[in-house]
Amino acid sequence: MKTLLPTSIAGSLPKPAWLAQPETLWSPWKLPEDELAEGKLDALRLAVQNQLLSGIDIVSDGEQSRQHFVTTFIEHLNGVDFEKRKTVKIRNRYDASVPVVVDAVTRPEAVFVKDAKFLRQLTSQPIKWALPGPMTMIDTLYDDHYKSREALAWEFAKILNQEAKELEAAGVDIIQFDEPAFNVFFDEVNDWGIAALERAVEGLKCETAVHICYGYGIKANTEWKKTLGDEWRQYESVFPKLQKSSIDIVSLECQNSRVPMDLIELIRGKKVMVGAIDVATSTIETPQEVAHTLRNALKFVDADKLYPSTNCGMTPLSRRIAAGKMQALSAGAAIVRGELA
Ligand SMILES: [Zn+2]
Repeated sequence: MKTLLPTSIAGSLPKPAWLAQPETLWSPWKLPEDELAEGKLDALRLAVQNQLLSGIDIVSDGEQSRQHFVTTFIEHLNGVDFEKRKTVKIRNRYDASVPVVVDAVTRPEAVFVKDAKFLRQLTSQPIKWALPGPMTMIDTLYDDHYKSREALAWEFAKILNQEAKELEAAGVDIIQFDEPAFNVFFDEVNDWGIAALERAVEGLKCETAVHICYGYGIKANTEWKKTLGDEWRQYESVFPKLQKSSIDIVSLECQNSRVPMDLIELIRGKKVMVGAIDVATSTIETPQEVAHTLRNALKFVDADKLYPSTNCGMTPLSRRIAAGKMQALSAGAAIVRGELA
């Protein structure tokens, strides 16, 4: 990356109102089946333009063609029955009605590769593509086949690796795996979660990232955060092992969170996507606030390894606010870039 402090968003952007109900998770598509594919690509084009106009350096698809960051990927796999649903507690936090794994899971064809090729055509900037991580995938399902979280995660890791290799071939520069579950199941992360993630990135030459957040800015998550105390030390449990892993970039939630910034020291040597935009509030950060967070992070990560980002996806926000937050991120990064020059 040539630019110092290259900015990116963690994942999703709000969708246009003609495509899906805004400010809503799992919002159903509004277009009829025969217009949907084209509509999703039009939305992707707008998401790219919004990022470029906001000065974002590493461009993503804004997850415009996905209903949900985990479910949509799983919908394309065999072995999961979406008609048969069970209610489970996901992230140990809230009940959700989820599909059931009924047979061996396989990926009959590429899931996002066409969309990634389209994104590649739209910009010459570096591009990033997010996939769900294996642990977060199994945590969003009921397993009636493998009867082992580890065994199922391993199968998903193999499938993710096939998809990631095709995304790399399509020109994706950074493949990111979203693992909010890493902030919840510490023993499993250390026992097999990071190993499964490394299986997912096996043989890749592009850069790889893991996004570990405290979840979207929805009520179940903000309520949970209130129970975590004054200092959020969850990252401390998984960083030492992650530091030794082959993952290049770690994406974290830092803005308005109670994560002690010095925990970043534990992943010294990794590139760090520092969340400097809070996605759980509609208040747009000032560039100075963003700069303040980045300066704090710079005490623990070298400038050439600091990637300013958002805490998490922005699906639950309005488009106007998401655009304002991206502009604040760019402006804040520019302030610190100026100070470093
Ligand atoms: Zn997130």
